[in-house]
Amino acid sequence: MATATIERIETSLVDLPTIRPHKLSVATMHGQTLMLVKVFCSDGIVGIGEGTTIAGMAYGPESPESMKLSIDTYLAPAAIGKDATRVQQLMAYIGKLVKVNSFAKSALETALLDAHGKRLNVPVSELLGGRRRERLPIAWTLASGDTGRDIAEAERMLDARRHKVFKLKIGAKELKTDIAHVAQIKRELGERGAVRVDVNMAWSETQAAWAIPALADAGCELVEQPVMSPAALGRLMRRFPIALMADEILQGPESAFEIAKHHGADVFAIKIEQSGGLFAAQRVAAIADAAGIELYGGTMLEGAFSTVASAHLFASFANLQWGTELFGPLLITEEILTQPLDCSDFELTVPSGPGLGIALDEARVKRFTRDGLIAVTR
Ligand SMILES: [Mg+2]
Repeated sequence: MATATIERIETSLVDLPTIRPHKLSVATMHGQTLMLVKVFCSDGIVGIGEGTTIAGMAYGPESPESMKLSIDTYLAPAAIGKDATRVQQLMAYIGKLVKVNSFAKSALETALLDAHGKRLNVPVSELLGGRRRERLPIAWTLASGDTGRDIAEAERMLDARRHKVFKLKIGAKELKTDIAHVAQIKRELGERGAVRVDVNMAWSETQAAWAIPALADAGCELVEQPVMSPAALGRLMRRFPIALMADEILQGPESAFEIAKHHGADVFAIKIEQSGGLFAAQRVAAIADAAGIELYGGTMLEGAFSTVASAHLFASFANLQWGTELFGPLLITEEILTQPLDCSDFELTVPSGPGLGIALDEARVKRFTRDGLIAVTR
């Protein structure tokens, strides 16, 4: 067994533009900030991880800046000098010193797994038990805020054979306006494209009870996080046959168990950051499987590193009934990898090289890295 210790950890904030404004019920995004973490090990191996959020702090309690701060100040000092080959042991140790901060932990764990995969010359998926699939279906999110523009965008994606499952971000407008928006898009796409919606918790239970049957009539196949309350989601699930998915309320294995115990969702949107890392997300998937809850590979609109880390994990899942939404890098205008990811024929190819199997284009990323905020922890 190779031995190596962690010598230093560097974090940086990379601000990248998006191809268009991304409108959600919680905020409109005009760009995406990646918090990149590099773990330098004594054997010369460097692992890279990433943390992102959706619209700063509009989605949850962490931000790219807070992740950087918690890694620089707490996680890195705890990790330096430790055995880099014992990833689960090290993350458990850090878990005792630092509560929550799930996104920051996911970024660090990703970097450790990338490094260890490179060290053992195996892809991260092999460190997670081995992949069951080489390619993953990827949905696209239509969120321009305009029905006509969304339809044109969906048509372009179908023509390019890049996506045929479309998630519509709704919840910011009047219910009837949102329903009409969904119905018009589904009518235009017909059997060529599947339509799902994400409400990002914007509705009350009463609003959801009115809207869900109308969405089903419009041809929508899945409603993601229509309400904030887990209890309300559970009640809605019993009232309507359309599949309801938990996203925001799914915060790691303990919450997954609580939801599963009360039969509170048909589908889980699993996210590595929200779960607290890849191993935690693996436990969420195990709980879902045991409870008969179906799985969907979610995204925190991540850049290439967290997207590929998620892909390695989702490739290892026994069940992935609803595919994935690993389109994050495609929403960003800049390519940050030396070799772009393969997104073709409606699917993403899981990289097969050691570690994450991707390489950062350092020169390119430098142009987008915030000045004066590159901290080096020794
Ligand atoms: Mg969501």
